[in-house]
Amino acid sequence: MTNPAEHKIEHWLKQIEVSDFQEKILNWYQEVKRDLPFRHTRNPYFILVSEIMAQQTQIAAVVPYYLRFISLFPTTKDLASASEEDILKSWEGLGYYSRVRNLQESARMIQKRGEFPNTYKDILALKGVGPYTAGAIASIVFDLPTPAVDGNVFRVISRLGGSFEDITKGSTRKLIEEVVSKLIFQKTPGDFNQSLIELGALVCTPTNPDCDLCPVSGFCYALKHDLISQLPVKKKTEKQKKIPLAVGLIENENGQWLMGKRPESGLLANFYEFKQIEVGEDDSLTTLTTFLKKEGFEIISILPLGPSTHTFSHRIWEMESFLVKANSENYHLKENEIWVAPQKMSDYSIITAHHRIRKKLPLV
Ligand code: SF4
Repeated sequence: MTNPAEHKIEHWLKQIEVSDFQEKILNWYQEVKRDLPFRHTRNPYFILVSEIMAQQTQIAAVVPYYLRFISLFPTTKDLASASEEDILKSWEGLGYYSRVRNLQESARMIQKRGEFPNTYKDILALKGVGPYTAGAIASIVFDLPTPAVDGNVFRVISRLGGSFEDITKGSTRKLIEEVVSKLIFQKTPGDFNQSLIELGALVCTPTNPDCDLCPVSGFCYALKHDLISQLPVKKKTEKQKKIPLAVGLIENENGQWLMGKRPESGLLANFYEFKQIEVGEDDSLTTLTTFLKKEGFEIISILPLGPSTHTFSHRIWEMESFLVKANSENYHLKENEIWVAPQKMSDYSIITAHHRIRKKLPLV
């Protein structure tokens, strides 16, 4: 036997009977596929919405958000002309808000050109659409035999073909896309792509794949050579930076809450947030009280609400929050700040990290 690390996926591809592979995985997909609302449509805009939502969220969890979004914005025209406030609100709970901004930008591009693009290259040119999403839309909606390689497909194909190539490298994406292009069933490429994705999601999971239930186990190099736990190979990414923060939910003498709007660009642009300060050498309570006194607040009471975290791709916010009742007569509102009555709070799009903290309060 060849040393597994030197084995080439191209050898595997030459040895297998492709039509047999296609038949087995497609029959299995028809039997077990999950009944999801976007699997009943070929409206390219709806498929685009579902794919963009699924980029950072489990597909089953996407369903209620998807249904709400397409009822709020049933066409690209509706989305293109919606206010930023409305689109951000519609995305609340999903996080990674740049996705909905890009989606709106795509809707505007589609409006401008007069129709949804129908080639892989033109779909790829839409804002926020990468090779996976373009491949998925092209195959599902337009029956084009384009691969759609997401994390599931990287894992499934690496194991099936015994590939030790690092899946974080661009060259590996190209290689896996080439393999899928040779495997793809030309008549129903959308179903074929989805069958690989579904296999990765339901059976060939990252840990403990259920190979007994796998329709293509007879083709699997990793199973045959006992290499499943070693594949796929993924180089470790840099560690996320931890940022300790003190968060103050400040209520003034009129029962209003202090909210600040974030800058127009950068992380969580244009969202509202409570007062948040990076904690240095002091503990979070001392940091917050010192800051508030310096800003002119007269603190009446301060109640800890406990710790919470929020994870971004490169950083983790480690927050300690406090409910602060304060006299604000000597506080000068900054340009981006407002006092908000509790009943008006839901009119503002608040960053998810603080939205969760706010939920701990009964009346806000
Ligand atoms: Fe994945 Fe096991 Fe199927 Fe191989 S046999 S593709 S490891 S589920």
